Amino acid sequence: MASGNNEQLDVVVVGAGFAGLYLLHRLRRLGLSAKLLESADDVGGTWYWNRYPGARCDIESIDYSYSFDPELEAEWRWSERYATQPEILRYLKHVADKHDLRRDILFKTRVAAAKWNGGTSSWTVSTQQGGEFRCRFYVMATGCLSQPKAPDINGHGRFLGRSYYTNRWPHEGVDFSGLRVAVIGTGSSAVQSIPIIAEQAAELTVFQRTPNFSRPARNGLVSAAKMAAYNSDRVAYREAARWSATGVPMSVSTLSALQVSDGERLAAYETAYASGDLLAFGAAYSDIIVNPAANKTVCDFLCGKIRGIVRDPETADALCPKDHFYGTKRPCIDTHYFETYNLPHVRLVDLCKEPLHSITECGIDTELRSFTFDAIVHATGFDAMTGAIVAVDIEGREGLSLKDKWAEGPLTYLGLSTVGFPNLFLITGPGSPSVLSNMAVSIEQHVDWVSNCIAHMRREGFDEIEATPAAESAWVQHVNDYADVTLFPRANSWYMGANVPGKPRVFLPYIGGVDRYRKACEEVVDRGYLGFTFKGARETRCNDGAIRRVQPDVAVLLETIEALKLPAVETLSVVAARALSGAMGAGRPPGPDVGEIIDGVLPGAAGELPYRLYRPKTPGRKPVVCYFHGGGWVLGAADSDDPFCRDLCVRTDAIVVSVGYRHAPEDRFPAAALDAFAAVKWIAAHAAGLGAEPAGRLAVCGWSAGGNLAAVACQLARGAGGPHIAGQVLVNPVTDWDLTHGSGVENAEGYLLTRALMQWFWDHYADVPDRADPRASPLRAKDLSGLPPALIVTSEFDPLRDQGAAYADALAAAGVASRHLPCRGHIHTSLVAVDVIISGEAARAEIAAALRGFLGTAPT
Ligand code: FAD
Ligand code: NAP
Repeated sequence: MASGNNEQLDVVVVGAGFAGLYLLHRLRRLGLSAKLLESADDVGGTWYWNRYPGARCDIESIDYSYSFDPELEAEWRWSERYATQPEILRYLKHVADKHDLRRDILFKTRVAAAKWNGGTSSWTVSTQQGGEFRCRFYVMATGCLSQPKAPDINGHGRFLGRSYYTNRWPHEGVDFSGLRVAVIGTGSSAVQSIPIIAEQAAELTVFQRTPNFSRPARNGLVSAAKMAAYNSDRVAYREAARWSATGVPMSVSTLSALQVSDGERLAAYETAYASGDLLAFGAAYSDIIVNPAANKTVCDFLCGKIRGIVRDPETADALCPKDHFYGTKRPCIDTHYFETYNLPHVRLVDLCKEPLHSITECGIDTELRSFTFDAIVHATGFDAMTGAIVAVDIEGREGLSLKDKWAEGPLTYLGLSTVGFPNLFLITGPGSPSVLSNMAVSIEQHVDWVSNCIAHMRREGFDEIEATPAAESAWVQHVNDYADVTLFPRANSWYMGANVPGKPRVFLPYIGGVDRYRKACEEVVDRGYLGFTFKGARETRCNDGAIRRVQPDVAVLLETIEALKLPAVETLSVVAARALSGAMGAGRPPGPDVGEIIDGVLPGAAGELPYRLYRPKTPGRKPVVCYFHGGGWVLGAADSDDPFCRDLCVRTDAIVVSVGYRHAPEDRFPAAALDAFAAVKWIAAHAAGLGAEPAGRLAVCGWSAGGNLAAVACQLARGAGGPHIAGQVLVNPVTDWDLTHGSGVENAEGYLLTRALMQWFWDHYADVPDRADPRASPLRAKDLSGLPPALIVTSEFDPLRDQGAAYADALAAAGVASRHLPCRGHIHTSLVAVDVIISGEAARAEIAAALRGFLGTAPT
């Protein structure tokens, strides 16, 4: 009978790598009975299997190591900055021995299936070897990069020479001396092994489908500075790692790569290049992974280095990545990788130019040539993040198969658990930072969270835990929202599942960072295990909800502003409030280039008003968008929404005229409203003089209080019989003075525009009896018929959300062609924050499309 039959345990853990070993240790210390099942014949996981020449870590070993055992930290000395595979394996064996872990590990035991038994709140885990275990909790510590990618090259298996796989390398090693060797792949494993294979082989041919960014690792001894930082206070050092974005303590620039001079940027990149630190380029500027132009500066720099190393220009060109942004496929650090291509017996076959046709009995055929080899090394990667999990036949509640559930991509809550599979935990599962971080740190965080959760359940007498559908879908949304503000989804990477034929294209890890992720996990616990249902003999407890609903870049903006500890605007004098609002606007990205910007004046209702005109780059006379800035009728100016006006101008290909109407409290209601209408009339009448179409098409647009003025101008124009306004776009408009219900209460605080601030604006703008006047609260107009077609944009976390939505409904009820665009996860200021809130792009595109529609201009 196979080992384990009928064994009843608290926990079964699968996988004896970094994760499983630490988890077993933690579970034992909780006094739980646990067994660890591992298909290999020893511990090590990644470092057991990947024994190819040159294999080593690329996060410095001091960081890529456990922090849970101070004694271990004190006694273990890494011999190099980036330790080799044998040294890391020795380390993990040492940990297993030191904590006497082997007695609860069953080696050569592959888990084939796991089935949830609802009646007994337990899992039955079956192994390929015929063993069966019953356990309350089942934990997959099966690794993100442990399931080799299934061979997908024609003719696989035909080769009669020697075939090797970097991720299943022979333990006795391989001597390539005198052999004609092929390496397929140029990912991290290939980049590390190619220089060493080249040292031995008589001939080496590298088959490259996608070139990779790599740069010198500058391996050697751990730097004195790093050693000192680590040794001076290890506890603080590790804590800094835990609360860093990548799991490695380092400072990340807050500057844009496009904000600095070419010389300054070049110097920063030279420093990053010289550092040999994998993470240095990502940290050099804040927008490398979100802004294509910023990213391109890194790509150009690194390709310049490649061309500087590789002597043959054609080979150098082939080695320069062209189809993806830096970092969106895992970059590498290397030792003499590019130099290897200067050796006379090494050649590169560019599969973009001559696609791989098949493996043959004697070598490899491309579509142009046949090659003969003695050995082929497959460095073709992994079915990452989900492969090892769905390789096990996991059946949850009501017969639900995990493989089926994840057919369109993995669905998890926090990457830790998945609905329908009670008491199943995933260590570094999809939806957690995992492979985008120093995994030692991420693994420890997950293991700690899971162990603490199990301990909590025991204390509280619960037998089952399961994520709620609402929490899971919100997390999946959040993970995707985060990915979508970056350049990552654009690459055919294994992060996207793109390396495995037929695998769904979904961004698999969580890119919000180790620190933000840790904060979310801790908050889930602090809020009573938000998003989980616990069941026990005595009670069922569910605290449903979503942990993150605000768009990720909005959350970052909120964090940044909170860190500035600014005074609440409504506590300031008007002069101080204007100074603060001006200062806040000064540091923002400028927005796109337009053809021309002209400042001028136009006659308002009671004197001259400044305006700023934005003209598109394209030639010819254009229609006009008359724009009203935000600022609660108190703050702002004709140029205060400059980036948004530029963006509107570029996207609509129309002239945008931003009007500087009179402000309160100097000029209270109805001054701003009358100015807005006067400006619309004047612009309509003087379009030709502004270089627009003579007596041509005109639409209005405004944000916040400016949205209020745009709406009011439409009502006044209707009442006055003109001018003709082709359409109105109201972005988070003020349409009513009443903030005492709905979103006014729900979003009263925490999202920059507070209810108190809005109240302060009203107090400065209009006397109480005037506030119900439709020129102050356009929602209160008795008749809304006959108004221009409208797009009303609202943001989920805006106190003004419901009044904007109400105006859209009221317009529609009055027969106006009105559309409401609700923006999920956004706040009052999101949509005008061009190049800051990238997740606002789609809404900005819709705003422009609506204006184009109103103006009858062709879509871009
Ligand atoms: P693994 O180490 O992958 O262990 C999982 C174990 O589960 C394996 O031993 C496997 O045999 C076992 N298993 C899987 N399925 C089953 C089953 N059904 N039944 C029984 N056993 C099963 N990360 C970094 O942060 N820094 C680095 O420098 C770094 N370098 C890397 C280099 C290489 C070559 C590779 C491939 C990955 C590297 N990684 C690196 C990522 C690395 O995978 C993680 O850092 C870490 O080692 C993962 O540990 P783990 O315990 O989660 O999984
Ligand atoms: P990988 O990055 O996925 O690289 C696989 C390579 O094989 C790619 O160049 C890929 O090309 C190529 N390939 C795959 N299938 C092919 C096919 N059918 N025809 C032609 N070429 C094919 O895999 P890996 O190098 O094993 O690395 C995986 C991950 O493990 C790394 O990204 C990293 O996270 C980790 N790792 C780290 C280190 C380290 O330095 N510490 C070392 C090794 C691995 P395409 O790009 O075109 O798909």
